[in-house]
Amino acid sequence: MIIRPVRVRFAPSPTGPLHIGGMRTALFNYLFARKHKGTFVLRIEDTDQKRLVKSAEQYIVESLKWSGINPDESVINGGKFGPYRQSERGEFYRENIDKLVKSGHAYYAFDKPEELERLRKEKEREGITFTYNNEMRNSLSNSLNFSGQEVEKRLNSGEPYVIRFMIPANERLKFNDLVRGNIEVDTSTLDDKILFKSDGMPTYHLANVVDDHLMQITHVIRGEEWLPSLPLHILLYRAFNWESPGFAHMPLTLKPDGKGKLSKRDGDRLGFPVFPLEWKNPETGEISSGYREAGYFPEAFVNILAFLGWNPGTTQEIFSMDELIEAFSLERIVKAGSRFDPEKAKWFNQQYLRRKENRELAELFVPILETKGINITIDYVTQVCDLVKERATFVSEMWDHSYFFFIPPERYDEKIIRKRWNDESESMMNRLGEILKEIEPFTSENIEEKVKKWINLNSHNMGQVLNLCRLLMVGASAGPHLFDILSLIGKRETLSRISRGIEKIGVG
Ligand code: GLU
Repeated sequence: MIIRPVRVRFAPSPTGPLHIGGMRTALFNYLFARKHKGTFVLRIEDTDQKRLVKSAEQYIVESLKWSGINPDESVINGGKFGPYRQSERGEFYRENIDKLVKSGHAYYAFDKPEELERLRKEKEREGITFTYNNEMRNSLSNSLNFSGQEVEKRLNSGEPYVIRFMIPANERLKFNDLVRGNIEVDTSTLDDKILFKSDGMPTYHLANVVDDHLMQITHVIRGEEWLPSLPLHILLYRAFNWESPGFAHMPLTLKPDGKGKLSKRDGDRLGFPVFPLEWKNPETGEISSGYREAGYFPEAFVNILAFLGWNPGTTQEIFSMDELIEAFSLERIVKAGSRFDPEKAKWFNQQYLRRKENRELAELFVPILETKGINITIDYVTQVCDLVKERATFVSEMWDHSYFFFIPPERYDEKIIRKRWNDESESMMNRLGEILKEIEPFTSENIEEKVKKWINLNSHNMGQVLNLCRLLMVGASAGPHLFDILSLIGKRETLSRISRGIEKIGVG
């Protein structure tokens, strides 16, 4: 066996947006290619023109780009095995289907759809499922049962036909899947699949196998839904006398309750996105949410995908793309379907948010602040991010955790007022204001030290003072370390919030 350089492909059909499972397929191909210093190809399988959705190809390209899964050869950056869109590769399919007909592995079938439908019904009444297979083909309207002249005549007269693959009868076909192991199939259970359609287009099976061969694909890594097609593909390679690539079929992605496959139709029904990017259905105008728009970091999204059916065999969960490349192997792909856990997905994003540089987070947060009319230095926002990033899962949640760094509270929590605010509170807060006024420098540690000293000296109740102060600063009992808040908003703002709060709560 010749060891060829690794070449893998992601071969989506542009019939709509990709979903989590499709993105996972792309990622695993990418990781495998990078790990083996190979090539990752993006091939657009658009032979089924009826199901084509115009914006889908662009969506696929953009989704991969956002996720950092960059193809080496594709419709965008070309490559020496192009074109990379199947609709532009017609000549290759024609040429190769002719070879199969000549070598006797495929045949013309002229059966009219109505006739096949009639047979199907007839068999159904007898309790048999009609299949176009090695038993039936001998009694149907195809070139196996006609003379060469007759076939010629029908073709020349423009009679519609399809070309079917001739499945060998009664053979025990043995092959291997890199995830599933050894598989055996009795060929009499297979039907003579159509390889070429009357509209002059190949079907998925033919185009897929021809292209994988011509593009020198060494490993086919794809979803489990294609496993039933594998015996046919193996037989096609054999009929063409081509070396077949290795195959690895990845487990299904299941709904969170484990009941059934997570499908595109699940959209937002289950309360989380199933698409990488927001998708607008061009026909209905319906919008389905995407991970990007929901505020996921692409690195987190990739990490989420990686754990769908693969694990590193260690307790490490956070992996950068480079670490994934290093750790990835087909052997560690599991056979069982993997449930998608939306809560775990959020957890991944939270982990990435915590690991981000404060400055980077600030840059993402500034546009949100701007929509609220807040224009403030990036340095200030960076310091805020440092204090609140432990508390948010998404950048979009940071406002709720940090608004008090930018604006004084608009309301004060009634429950805390009822619990804490009494006749002495006003004078106590006024005195706290006087103490704070004198503190210099106004750093968190210094304020803490001085305020606590004052509390102790006057035998005040520590909890009472600090909770009231927090109420005046934040309006609630939430937020990071109190003295960090005072120091960052600054002395002037602190004192102003004290008088403002006293006034408002006093009136209330
Ligand atoms: N075009 C197929 C799809 O949409 C590709 C399957 C394969 O990878 O062979 O999933």
